[in-house]
Parts: sequence; structure tokens; C-alpha cells
Amino acid sequence: MKITEVISEVFEWERPGIWNGGHFYGPGRLHKVTIKTDEGVDGCGWNGGTAAERPLNIFPPFVDYFRELLIGRDPNDTRAIAEDLGEKHIKILGPAGVNTQVLAAINIACWDIKGKALGKSVHQLLGGAQSRIRTYIAGGYYAEGKGLEELQEEVRFNVEEMHAGAVKIKIGDPRQGVFGDMKRVEAAREAVGDNVILMVDANCALDLSTSLEFTNELAKLGVYWFEEPMPIHRYKEHGTLRSASEVKIATGENGYHLSHFETLLDHKGADVLNVDVTICPGYDVAKDVADLALERGVSIAPHGCQELQLPLAAGIPHGEFLEYYPVAVDPLRAEMFQPQMIPDEDGYVTVPDRPGIGFELNMDLLNKYRVG
Ligand SMILES: [Mg+2]
Repeated sequence: MKITEVISEVFEWERPGIWNGGHFYGPGRLHKVTIKTDEGVDGCGWNGGTAAERPLNIFPPFVDYFRELLIGRDPNDTRAIAEDLGEKHIKILGPAGVNTQVLAAINIACWDIKGKALGKSVHQLLGGAQSRIRTYIAGGYYAEGKGLEELQEEVRFNVEEMHAGAVKIKIGDPRQGVFGDMKRVEAAREAVGDNVILMVDANCALDLSTSLEFTNELAKLGVYWFEEPMPIHRYKEHGTLRSASEVKIATGENGYHLSHFETLLDHKGADVLNVDVTICPGYDVAKDVADLALERGVSIAPHGCQELQLPLAAGIPHGEFLEYYPVAVDPLRAEMFQPQMIPDEDGYVTVPDRPGIGFELNMDLLNKYRVG
């Protein structure tokens, strides 16, 4: 089988602005990579489909750069392609960034082809360890006019209407401080009750001393994990925080290389790795990270677009949670992917038995928002 065509498309749509500790997110955006083969089996990968807004208009030039390196290659050689376009281009493109995020979309498209050609799901190809996986609902962002009551309404909706057994909210906005954010956590705990798992996420906004201050308070409210407290390269500080914290430390959504995770775990800096297949980059590296996590006794709870992360999260025995973005973070989410992924009544997602990734983009919808 040979790659004959590599297509890049960009889509953008309006949505209400939201922010976390470190970033403001405006319009929704998605970058799609389609790979075609001489055997008529096509595959798709993408960047986007979460709350995060990225300047995706700068992604297609990277596809242009990689295209001539891909034409004629066998898409089933996912690992060799990842190596050749990744490691071997560090001198030219740098170790990570938009280049590796584009590589992730290419790798995912190749895995989609591999699965479809074999008549197997990527979930099966990655081990198929779990047929169902527990989700937690991402959210609790800051937004204009959103106070404690609105935050409570949101998390209560997630539990009552979406059957969530676990929900996450943001902390880390410097205007809130520890006091203001702990009011938010308290309000969320009060809204969901003691039987629902509650996580918080600071999106790298804090330093070590503020993180330490938070852990004591978070432990009192039975918070399950404290996600991305500090900038990702503060390995030593992650180790210090984790050893002092009763609350689990989760991080890794911005991890861009296996070595990043190795260093983090060498410093005993995390209990849970939020590896993201669209960042790390791709399923081959993600599986390496998952194998490393198993060896070191930490779990995996992937960050990011759930349709792409599900094959990994449920493919491995130590996939602890799947992050689930609801329509509250993007109104288009309800129709953007086919078929729609809906949690079962116990908050778990059942893994579909379909060849490839198992989800397609709804092009009738997305084509209305094409910008490139
Ligand atoms: Mg996060």
C-alpha cells in the first residue's frame, strides 16, 4: 500500500469565549489531514475538537513540508514514518511544536488506514484491554458573567443530565488567587456532593509555593487530582509537590516526546499522565508513554479530543479515565463527530467496534466553516 495524496483543511466557527489559568479561547477551530492510498483506503486525523483554540492556519504549511516525504510510503509503517518525520527533522523543525502536532494528525490518519485495511479498530490494535472506560467531564472554565451559581449549574448538569461520575473545573486565574479559586472548588463540591469525583486543573499557571498552598486546601475537599499545576519543564518542582501532596498530581497533556515523560517520572513528578495523542505526537509515541507508565506504576487519563483518545485510553489496562468535552465547551461538538459519543448511564463510554479510529468528521457540518 502506498500513500498517494495528503490533504490539509482548516475550519473555524464562532463560540462564546472562555478561559483557564493560562489561556483565553475564542473561536472553535479544527485542522483535518486526509491521507489517500493507491488501494482506495483513506484515513483521517485532526487537530482540534477540544476547548483550546490554536492558530491552525499555520498548520497547512507543515503538511506541505511533509507531503513529499510521505508520498509513496506505506502508511502501515506508522512508527518508521513518525521517526523519519519527527526525530530526523529536529535539526530543521525543532524538537516540538506545530510540526509535531501536524505529525500527530498524520500518524493518526495512518493508524486509521491501518485499522480500516485490517478490518480492526485502533483500540484493538493498541491492545483492546477495556471494552468500556470511565469518563470525566471537562469544564468549569472561567467566562464573562459566570459566577459560583453558574459554575454549580454546569457541574450539576454534568452529573444529573450527562451521568458523570467525575467532573473537572479550572483553577489558576491569577485574579482569583487561592482564596477565590477555593470558593469555586467548594461551590463545585457542594453542587455535586461527596460521591462524585472532583478534579481541578491549573493549566500550568502556578508556581511551586502556590501549588503547595493549593494542595492542602484541595485535600480538605476530597479533590481527586490536581492537574498541570506548574509549567511542564519544572520537573524537580513536580517531584517536590507530589511528595508533599495528598491529592494526586496529573500532568502530561503538553508532553511532546517520550523523554519528557521519562524525565517527569524520574523525578516522581506525577501519579497520572494526561498524554494526548494529538500532541505527544501520535499513537506510536502515546503507546510508548503508556508502556512506560505501566512500568512505573502510574495511570493514563488522556487529555484532548475524546474521539481520538478513546482507542488509547481503553486500549490499555491502566487507562483510568477518558476526558470528555461536552457541548458546553463548544456548541458544535454535538454534531461534529459521527457517530456521536455519549456516555452510558453509569458515566462510562462503550468502545465502538468499528475499523480504524471509529469516528468520522461530519463534513456536511464542517464544510460550512471551511476557511482553508
Ligand atoms: Mg488540562
